Amino acid sequence: MIKIISPKAVSLALVAAMASIATCAHAQSVSAPVMTLVVDETQAAQRIAFVHEEIRVRPGSLALSYPLWIPGEHGPTGPTENFAALRIHAGSATLLWTRDLDEITTIHVEIPAGTDRISVDFDTLLENTISGHQLLLAWNSVVLYPRGIDKRQLMIEPAIVLPPNWQQGSSLVVTSRTGNQVNFAPLSLERLIDSPVLAGEFFRAVPLSASWPAELDLTGDSQAAVDNANDANALHLFNNLIDQDHAMLGFRHWQTMHILVSQSAARPFDGLEHEDPPYNAIGDAGLSKKSQLQKFGWPLLAHEQSHSWDGKYRRPAELYSKSDYQGPERTSLLWVYEGLNEYIGWLLATRAGFNDAEYMRDYVARTTANFAGEPGRASSALVDTATENWIIRTVDSGWASLRRGQDYYDEGGLIWLLADVQIRKQTQGRFSLDDFLRSFLGQRDTGPIVATYTREDVEAALATICPYDWHTFFETRIYQVNSKPPLEGLEAAGWHLVYNATPNNEVFDSELNLITYYGAYSIGINVKKDASIADVWPGTPAYDAGLGPHMTILAVDGQAYSDDVLNEAIARPQNGKISLLVRNFDTVKTYEIQYAGGVRYPHLEQIPGTHDYLSEILASRNYK
Ligand SMILES: [Zn+2]
Repeated sequence: MIKIISPKAVSLALVAAMASIATCAHAQSVSAPVMTLVVDETQAAQRIAFVHEEIRVRPGSLALSYPLWIPGEHGPTGPTENFAALRIHAGSATLLWTRDLDEITTIHVEIPAGTDRISVDFDTLLENTISGHQLLLAWNSVVLYPRGIDKRQLMIEPAIVLPPNWQQGSSLVVTSRTGNQVNFAPLSLERLIDSPVLAGEFFRAVPLSASWPAELDLTGDSQAAVDNANDANALHLFNNLIDQDHAMLGFRHWQTMHILVSQSAARPFDGLEHEDPPYNAIGDAGLSKKSQLQKFGWPLLAHEQSHSWDGKYRRPAELYSKSDYQGPERTSLLWVYEGLNEYIGWLLATRAGFNDAEYMRDYVARTTANFAGEPGRASSALVDTATENWIIRTVDSGWASLRRGQDYYDEGGLIWLLADVQIRKQTQGRFSLDDFLRSFLGQRDTGPIVATYTREDVEAALATICPYDWHTFFETRIYQVNSKPPLEGLEAAGWHLVYNATPNNEVFDSELNLITYYGAYSIGINVKKDASIADVWPGTPAYDAGLGPHMTILAVDGQAYSDDVLNEAIARPQNGKISLLVRNFDTVKTYEIQYAGGVRYPHLEQIPGTHDYLSEILASRNYK
């Protein structure tokens, strides 16, 4: 784990100096912010931004920090490596700075007597550029902020300088535009970091006509991508999405929802939640393609915006540092923040019509089958995948089933499905998890604030909807090792997992993971586009044959490798075996897989004679 010291390690003298600045800040009105921040993005296409800050200070020691624990990223992921060329001045005098030896995202500078203002300039490298035509300004990547002032109180007056003729969309209030510089109303550091700006040469702001005020702010890499954004009925789907939010959650924590969507081949899939402007990247002209809207409906477009409630307004107390962004924070409750939100995304995307119920069942079948083939479950509890999420998030996919992946998302979703069915059964259909969501995440209309919770709060809120031993429910499934595949939710909802020869739908991350052949459910390997083995499942015929990740398949039963050739060999093995010619490092060798089970893909099948809760759960609701 990365060692990050707590602010108490900062010298007492520094704390005293900061306290005096804090007092100064508290005394100021909103119109007199502690600092101004101008981000020059005119050279965004070169992948560089120039930052200029003016900060009111008092003489003495000053500590400035570059945000490290980024909200929504659940780890110390601030791009410190791209923060460069720092220069600090008091008038014309250059002030020397030093980096904190323990907390390396903090720098120290001595403010001379008689100085009440400093200027801070630095460059942000390689961040925020989407393509030559678009950028997403994440303010955490362009701010160095004074320590010792609560992030909810530290007022900043921000501005962005855009390339000529570019436009921007965000939840920020524009006060003026001077040439290419857009000036925004002052706001707290916390609100600023939660309010990214999407800008582009080709930009459109489209008001939605849903039951709550909402707007789609979209960019593309061509005028056509922006003009044709509704070809696949995207606006209708987003209207439905907001209406389904309304039906499910009842209350909101924003005035107008700005849904930011960038369309570029340079960023095929990305997203980050914010209390108001959720950000989504859906590939080139994605809004005009039905397949993209279907594929990215639940894991992205529904998911990021429902985080406004689950994760932003309601946030685990352990994952919310009230004062600053330097951490450390704890992530064990991501089975609520992400797991519950995953479940909400399945529901909202299907209820809004981004996909149909059959499409969602196909995804759920696949993810459940992946858990069923995961030997790591026998040694690690689900909560462990949440606790170490930022370590496992970006690792190589090899041997993932032993390490376990970010299972708190989808296995979390399956456990919340079980909770939903439990509530429906026990209350004879009078209540459902929707009622818990409304009481726990909706609560009442508010501005963009954070209301924290603990595990005990979650269990108590569930019990008010449906009295039950929710502590044991979560303890046995999340906090204790549970080697059984998580089938209970599906079976309680009237469906079970079956395998047949029909391939599953394309998965949402197929363009990123490059896997083109899914043989994990049959012989035990998944294969990438370049014929290299992405992963091998332990205990399968491929594992027993000696295969491992990163080996490259050259031939199958004497024929040059292709996905079709491998599929045919799995469908009709010769004498119960499949012969693979494989390159591993500098060796080429034949591996014989003993297998006669045919092609297998996971699907859901209704259990005869049972109540079909799953279809009820996925059906759209009326918000009135
Ligand atoms: Zn999420």
